[in-house]
Formats: sequence, C-alpha cells, structure tokens
Amino acid sequence: MQFFKHLFSTDDDHLHLLFHGAAREVTGSMHLVELGGHWVAIDCGLYQGHREQAAEANARFPVKPRQIEAVILSHAHIDHSGNLPFLVKEGFVGPIYCTPATRDLSAIMLQDSGHIQEEDAAYWNKKHPDDPIEPYYTRDDAKTALSQFVTIDYGRPFMVLPRLVCQFAEAGHILGSATVLLTLEAKEGGQPVRLCFTGDLGRRSLPILRDPAPLPACDYLLAEATYGNRVHEPPEDMKAKLADVINRTVARGGRVVIPAFSVGRTQSLIFYLRQVFQENLAPSIDVFIDSPLAVNATEIFRLHPDLFDEETTALAKELGGKLFDCPRCHYITDVEQSKALNSFTGPCVIISASGMCEAGRILHHLKHAAPDKRNTIAIVGYMAANTLGRRLVDRVPEIKIFGKMYPLEAEVVKLNGLSSHAGADELMEWILPLKDMLKKLFIVHSEPAQAEPFARRCREAGFAEVDYPQAGEGFMLD
Ligand SMILES: [Zn+2]
Repeated sequence: MQFFKHLFSTDDDHLHLLFHGAAREVTGSMHLVELGGHWVAIDCGLYQGHREQAAEANARFPVKPRQIEAVILSHAHIDHSGNLPFLVKEGFVGPIYCTPATRDLSAIMLQDSGHIQEEDAAYWNKKHPDDPIEPYYTRDDAKTALSQFVTIDYGRPFMVLPRLVCQFAEAGHILGSATVLLTLEAKEGGQPVRLCFTGDLGRRSLPILRDPAPLPACDYLLAEATYGNRVHEPPEDMKAKLADVINRTVARGGRVVIPAFSVGRTQSLIFYLRQVFQENLAPSIDVFIDSPLAVNATEIFRLHPDLFDEETTALAKELGGKLFDCPRCHYITDVEQSKALNSFTGPCVIISASGMCEAGRILHHLKHAAPDKRNTIAIVGYMAANTLGRRLVDRVPEIKIFGKMYPLEAEVVKLNGLSSHAGADELMEWILPLKDMLKKLFIVHSEPAQAEPFARRCREAGFAEVDYPQAGEGFMLD
C-alpha cells in the first residue's frame, strides 16, 4: 500500500486504478478507480475459500467503505456481488449501478447469501455456546444493500463521477452480465482515457443468452482469464452427451443426479433436456429441479425475454410460458417434497444445488445415489480443490457426507460444454481486435496456471504491455 500512497497524487486530471480482489485468483472480485480523491469500486464480490482466510479477506477493504462513492456491478454471481451487504453495513451509502436483470438476480442471490450467513452463525453458536458469533451479514443487510441499486440498460452512458462516464455492454456470461467501459472525458486539448473491464466473459452459442458484444475501443483492458489455458467443448455437444448419460442410466434402472448452480447452469440444463426429450434422443423421464433458488431464478429469466438470443426468442414465442419446462419437469421448493425424492423409484433426473456439493439439498441426493452403481452423477461445472465435487471428479472410493462415509459406486461423468466462461481461444478472439490500441492489458480473475500461459500467448500475439497485477498494486492511467 505504500507504493500506492506514493503513486496517487489525488489530482483530478488522472484516473488511478487499484487492484484488490480476484487479483491472481478467481474469487472476491473487486477493483477500484480513483479520480481527484473520489473512489469508485468495480464489483464487490465475496471471497470464497477456507473459512478463516475468507473471513479475513472479506472484512478488509483498501479504502473506508464510506469513502467509496459508487459501485459498478458487472453481474450477479456472488463472487462479484456477495460482499455488497457487508460494504453497506460498514458505511457505504452510494449507488450500486448494474443492469436490470443483474438487480433482479442479485435480489434473490444476496438474500440467499444472507440466509446462509445466518445459518452458518447459528450452527457455530449451537456448537460453541461459550464463543458465539454474529452472522457476517443478514438477509436484512442484503435488503438494505438492494435499496441502493440503480439499474441502467446496456448501451446507455451514465455519469459515475464528474467527467467519468460508464457504459454497459452484453458480456454473454449470465443473464444481465455486462462488460464495463469507463471513459474519463478529456479536458480541453487532451485525450479521453478509456478503461474496459470484461467482467466475466461468456461464450458464443451458450443456450438462452446472447453472445458477448465485441469489446469497445479502449486504452486499458482488465480481462478475465479464468480459463486462459483451457479450451472447452462446444455447448452444442451437450444435447447428445446428456442423451447418452440418460440412456445408459435408464438402461440400468438408475437415476441421474446433477449438482448445478441454481442461476444460469440449471436453466441451461433444462433447455437441453427439453430438446433431448422432444427429439426422442432419450426416453422421457421425470426431471426434478430441487432448489428454491433455481425456481426463483427461473422466474427472473422469464421476466427478461429481451435478453434472450434469437433461437430462444423464437422458442419463447412458440412455447410461451413453457420455455423452462420439459414434459415431466417438476420444480421443488418444499423440504418435504425434496425428502420424498429419496423414496422415488424408477429412473429420473435430479438437478440440485450447491454446484460444488459443499452444502444444500444436493448432499442428500448424493448420499442416496453414490452407493448404487445403477446411478450416474453428472458433473457440469468447475469443482474447486477441497470440495466434495472435486472428490467426485477424482473418483475417490468413498465420500464423506454429514460425517458419515458412503462408497462411491455410481458412474461419474464430466460434461464440460456448459461453462459460462470463455475458453482460451475465445478470450483471444475477443481481445485481439484491441491489440494495437491498448496501452496495457491487465489479466485478472485467473490463477497462475491459467494466467501465465495466457499472458505469454498475448505477448506472442503482439500485445505491447501485459500485466498480471497483485492485490494492492496501483497504476496511473493516462
Ligand atoms: Zn460470473
């Protein structure tokens, strides 16, 4: 931070950039810009990881929350938005700018996150009555943060600070996701300074969503590179792969259990499952979507048909309200109904959260499904190290759920095609048109094993300056 203080002169002619979260890692996204002593944050994500490390990282902001005048939010994922209730609790009173769909998704996701924090604290307090803790934030704190949201449509410039204009464009990653262009308007005789943040960048031909818009002309780019060193399967392959999995499992008389994030991934799965059944690629079986958050998120998808791609728009016209349904699709919110699925006999698909199998209803389904070799566990998302999801991928012989060991006899399959992040080739395609105009490319939201090969590739492609900044590093942009 010493370097940072020295560098920042709080003059109002220069825009300064400070890296804080998702610098050399993929969680807790938060970057800051400063102009003449005024601070604006881009994202305010929750750091997810080991309990103590996460608590420490989340409670630390580089400047006092009341000094931050506005937050620009790229999208609703918790690792980009989930620390907002705490920022507000600590004194931030400014506007939180985002697209309307991001606001709607954040409304359910931040309250859900508050609920999880409350439950975590209650669980701890039950186990440690002599050492009680307060929830990190509550559902009410989430509601207070939501009252500060200001929604701005894609393509509509708005003033964040005097002379500092912001504009959102489609990022194609989840519903409402945006790339952020910040322009510092020129003073007389000068040049404007343009800074673009990709947020999380999506992919072409992901179901439902529009493709990312081309990145805008800019001088500085903060590019995510979650998969800077990996190429994904095409999303289109998912239909055939899902059909294969269902056919195999039905032939054995088993069930398919799919851990999936409630927002985005679950809706994409239903989208493909409907096609699988409609085109008779597999026998039509019952599909249970066992996640209250997924039910609410699906309702928000229905509220924003303007954000669908062409194919989905046409389908929505044809299917009306049944876009996120399949013939035997059942949305489950009630806990008793969820438990009743354990005694359901016959082939079925169960989609449930959490995505990485660390908590939630999926644990009950895995506990029942894992010991039976007729069943299939289908992994459709990234599984971080030290999660039950990763152990499933690694095919350990036994898994521990609620303190008890269960043999892992079920088939485990990995379906990679649904990633909502651009792969290495796609990233390169998006940023390459900016090569000759960029003064500096900053790689963020990326672990070293992904970022370093990607940085090399960018240099080889002719990018003049490529940086992989650490938390606490600051830069003057001119
Ligand atoms: Zn995201």
